[in-house]
Amino acid sequence: MELLSRLSRYAKEKTDAVAFQNAYTDETITYGQLWDYSDRIASHIDETIDADKRPVVVYGHKSPLMLAVFLACVKTGHPYCPVDISMPTERLRDIVEASDTSLLISLEETEVGCEHKYSYDDVRGFVAEDLREAIGVDRYVSGDDVYYIIFTSGSTGKPKGVMITADCLDNYLTWMEQIVTRGGETGDYTYLNQAPFSFDLSVMDTYTSLYMGGTIWSMEKRLQEDMGLMHERLSGSGLGIWVSTPSFMNVCLLNKDFNSEMLPHMRIFLFCGEVLTNKTARQLKERFPEAQVINTYGPTESTVAVTEVVITDEMAGSEKPLSIGYDKPGTHIYIMDDKYTYPGLPEGEKGEIVIAGNTVAAGYLHQPELTADKFFKLTTPEGEMWAYKTGDEGYKTDGLLYYCGRMDFQIKLNGYRIELGDIESNILEMDDVTYCVVLPIEKRGEIKGLAAFVTLDHEITDEFEYSQSVRKYISEKLPHYMVPKKCIVLKEMPMTNNGKADRRALKELL
Ligand code: AMP
Repeated sequence: MELLSRLSRYAKEKTDAVAFQNAYTDETITYGQLWDYSDRIASHIDETIDADKRPVVVYGHKSPLMLAVFLACVKTGHPYCPVDISMPTERLRDIVEASDTSLLISLEETEVGCEHKYSYDDVRGFVAEDLREAIGVDRYVSGDDVYYIIFTSGSTGKPKGVMITADCLDNYLTWMEQIVTRGGETGDYTYLNQAPFSFDLSVMDTYTSLYMGGTIWSMEKRLQEDMGLMHERLSGSGLGIWVSTPSFMNVCLLNKDFNSEMLPHMRIFLFCGEVLTNKTARQLKERFPEAQVINTYGPTESTVAVTEVVITDEMAGSEKPLSIGYDKPGTHIYIMDDKYTYPGLPEGEKGEIVIAGNTVAAGYLHQPELTADKFFKLTTPEGEMWAYKTGDEGYKTDGLLYYCGRMDFQIKLNGYRIELGDIESNILEMDDVTYCVVLPIEKRGEIKGLAAFVTLDHEITDEFEYSQSVRKYISEKLPHYMVPKKCIVLKEMPMTNNGKADRRALKELL
């Protein structure tokens, strides 16, 4: 596998270069240590569990040892499931159960048990020992073997494990390399890691950096919670590539000093995971005139992202919502109706976004029925392609893909068809609004109206008056049935562990 051969090479050529740094604790791991530590941990894993291909669950946060453990798992032929400390105990227990693992490596304390369990101290002990025997390269995960399994929330309330193979990851990284080296750059930058390892967005920064021989500059939870300290640390970070959700960027933009003076080496801002608004892109381009702002799109089920577009001043300044980009090489995106047949709907028509190509996941771990429901073989004139039904609505024009929201965020109110995202983007165009989520107000299962939740860049004294001003503004832009009944001003938007607005928590506020 190309990723592993490069890491082996960097261990020799860039032995003392920092591969990962925790920006809060300042703990680091070099390329030499990463390779060496993972060999030592691998020899223990190999002694503890069978050489079957069952996954190993790795629980922890942003310790440099996490990366060594991930690498140790794949060196012994086992995929790993990363679980962040933000997951509650019950969720970890569900994942240990669902993955049918016999080894839990917990770099942070947890009461969850498993047939075999290594603690942080165990792992520290392994890396301090002399290496007994390195595992042969032929045992490494490769080709169709599963490299990692990321659990995402399932509609049934139990998480589902998305299986990403070594080939998917290599294919994805080949594309990321093209993006970060465009214009003759080396790609060997300092990369921001904001997302926890259990969110696939972290793959974008972590593995691209490792693939390119860069340095991962990782912000752990404690740093993200302390804005003052975070900005202080950012100033000295030397970041060249930024990877985060747009929501996280909106928080950073609240600080007026967040600009190219603070981050003079910034080259590329990469976004994924939720809508990037024109307003955020505009602000960012003003503050970092030399850097590129890139919007990418994709689900965990197709290895992080499958489209990208560099946002131009014209795109950012237009009224039209930003595109989510062009298909990456090796991927074809089709817009389909419920027949799911090639070539799908004509250009410009809205339908479900279907992804076919070389980064589509193998399926859901131990869930053949769910896999068969969401994944399928698409017959095309060039042959069969493995494809995934995203549940996202979109359309294409001139090769550019546009996102129109989740098919399940489309609601009907008094017979009118409404996209909640439509109202959200309109409210976001108000100068003082920093974030907005619109939810239906339901009574006994029936939608009775809409509520908007907003955060602002200033304090207000009269919420009622403010709410009225939003209603007035929106009623000037949208039909009456799309005007929210109420507008609730929040000090802070509740976020999920993945850094997206927590719609469930907001619903409870209603
Ligand atoms: P996740 O698997 O957590 O990455 O979530 C995938 C979902 O996030 C997609 O199916 C989309 O609904 C949404 N998403 C990802 N990227 C974007 C984007 N650039 N713009 C809008 N929505 C996005």
